[in-house]
Amino acid sequence: MAAEDGRLAEGERPGAGERPGDAGMLELIEGRRDELVELTRELIRFPTVNPPGEAYQPCAEFIGRRLKSKGFEVAYVRAVDAPGDADRYPRINVIARREGTRRGPTVHFNSHIDVVASGGGWTLDPFAGTSKDGKVYGRGACDMKGGLAASIIAVEALIDSHPHFPGALEISGTVDEESGGYGGVHYLAMRGWFSPPRLDHVIIPEPLNVDRVCIGHRGVWWAEIETHGRTAHGSMPFLGDCAIRHMHAFIERLERDLYPRLAQRRTEMPVVPSGARHATLNINSIHGGLMETAGYPAPCVADSCRVVLDRRLLIEENMNEVKDEVRQLLEQLTLERDGFRYSMRDIFEVRPTMTDRHGPVARSTAAAILRVMGHPPEFICSPGTYDQKHIDRIGKLRDCIAYGPGILDLAHQPDEYVVIDDLVNSAKVMALAAAALLHGRA
Ligand SMILES: [Zn+2]
Repeated sequence: MAAEDGRLAEGERPGAGERPGDAGMLELIEGRRDELVELTRELIRFPTVNPPGEAYQPCAEFIGRRLKSKGFEVAYVRAVDAPGDADRYPRINVIARREGTRRGPTVHFNSHIDVVASGGGWTLDPFAGTSKDGKVYGRGACDMKGGLAASIIAVEALIDSHPHFPGALEISGTVDEESGGYGGVHYLAMRGWFSPPRLDHVIIPEPLNVDRVCIGHRGVWWAEIETHGRTAHGSMPFLGDCAIRHMHAFIERLERDLYPRLAQRRTEMPVVPSGARHATLNINSIHGGLMETAGYPAPCVADSCRVVLDRRLLIEENMNEVKDEVRQLLEQLTLERDGFRYSMRDIFEVRPTMTDRHGPVARSTAAAILRVMGHPPEFICSPGTYDQKHIDRIGKLRDCIAYGPGILDLAHQPDEYVVIDDLVNSAKVMALAAAALLHGRA
């Protein structure tokens, strides 16, 4: 069935979406449906819960052993000084590389192996990897062990059907994505693992749906704002200065001035759900005054009140301007309100990122979706961030998308599952896209 790699069969045109070997590759994947399901179940059975970072090592070694047996060179990288790394919870990443038979681009599939805690509400064992009714259930089935399994089956089928492929193929299983990626993609990117010319194209099989190509995400600014007051006995508040009242004034300004402005700011980014096509602000937490002890409140005027803001940025916005916008509200209050004093502390920030939807990886994945699913894909952006931020900012690699099976809304939910047909179809899409990229025909 598979024509010899590199030669065109009768009637096939380069760029027409059909290459020699492709049909055979898709048949191989279809024939490996049960193997794909089994691999997904096996991955779910490693309870790689983060925090604290459970079972990373056995999971990474399981992936490494499998790929080594398929001719990959396997490296394990422990993020020794990353947050949470300890001998009890080592941050172990696995990167597997298989060289082709001649020069060409490198295509990399990056999946995180960590999952969030199972939480309550499950009707099934979250780490059993139960398969029933055409679905595989378990923590991480959707986010994102299903995607990891699909990428492994895709790459193996690509190699088996195109034994003389050019370039190189890589698969990585990285840790700590759910807590910012510092022991995972961030750590590796800082050490050159995600930079050209080592890599050219990256697909992150996050659960964005089998027929959607995710080309980027909004940015984030987390900040802590503190208002300062002066303590006094609660029976004589006029002797003090209440930090909570100052914070109330600030929150009122957010309501009056900032929220309406943000709601009007609409992005050209195709963010889903559409509510996230505006700039958004969440007041994450608020703490002021002394905690009550033994059920009895402290009769004191609060000398401090803190809020944590979670501001999500659009590609059209500028990080400094976003911060200034909040600072100006605070500065205005220092002019208008007696005794108003504040401090502002950055906690975390990520710039928005969006790759070109006409770039090689997005285009080849879109063509593959059309071929496998029979309809063109939807291009989307994610409301929150994922590891693409590190690949873009630190690795300086722009040709990166997220594409994988699983429904985003199910991520982090009880009874999380992935549909088996989606697993198989996404593996076909990944294989076709990678083959096109390797052959430089994207
Ligand atoms: Zn994820």
